[in-house]
Amino acid sequence: MAKSKSNDQKEKKQQKATAPVKNSTTGTGNSVQKAKISNGASSEKQDTKELLLNQLDLRFRDEIAGHPGGENIRRCFACGTCAAGCPVTEVDSEYNCRRIIRQILFGMREEVLSSPLIWMCLVCYRCYVRCPQKVNFTDIMRVLRYLAVKEKRFSPETFEWINELDRFSQVMRHDMVKGFFDKKKVSLEELQSRIEKVIKEAVTQPR
Ligand code: SF4
Ligand code: SF4
Repeated sequence: MAKSKSNDQKEKKQQKATAPVKNSTTGTGNSVQKAKISNGASSEKQDTKELLLNQLDLRFRDEIAGHPGGENIRRCFACGTCAAGCPVTEVDSEYNCRRIIRQILFGMREEVLSSPLIWMCLVCYRCYVRCPQKVNFTDIMRVLRYLAVKEKRFSPETFEWINELDRFSQVMRHDMVKGFFDKKKVSLEELQSRIEKVIKEAVTQPR
């Protein structure tokens, strides 16, 4: 259907009202606004960058390298072989030894040492055995735990409890495998009471 003359006039008026205002020196009004916004965004970006840089501790990698086991950390080229074979990553994708090494190399001291992830490692040395650069992540993990407790980010009791838990897991696995081959059924009640004891201790431990 053909538009009426008065409708045409209305549309033209609206277009005029919403059209960008030309500016002889800086282009359109919208582009000035855009430039302002983009300046704001880039200075915000700069601020964030500076803030992040201020939070980094670039001596962290040297500190780790100075501890026995940490010597080769700078040799890591982020291939990810360690994470690909890690039994903890298999069950928890948040835990990634490659990422933790990156964080150390980037100087993210605070973030690494305060993270509960450093207590997830089973200390099995699988990552070290597979690493083409001979980065001993298992011993690096021990250093991280040592520093975290030394700086009171975690309590010594946490350290003790994790060690105890590792021993408990080993004993439990051993007993179950032995029971399986000896054709002796492991009593479910006994298993349950052992697990309950560990869980009870876990929730009452100071962090
Ligand atoms: S396997 Fe070795 S080199 Fe590769 S990411 Fe892990 S630590 Fe780095
Ligand atoms: S030592 Fe820790 S990080 Fe390395 S493979 Fe074993 S559980 Fe994973």
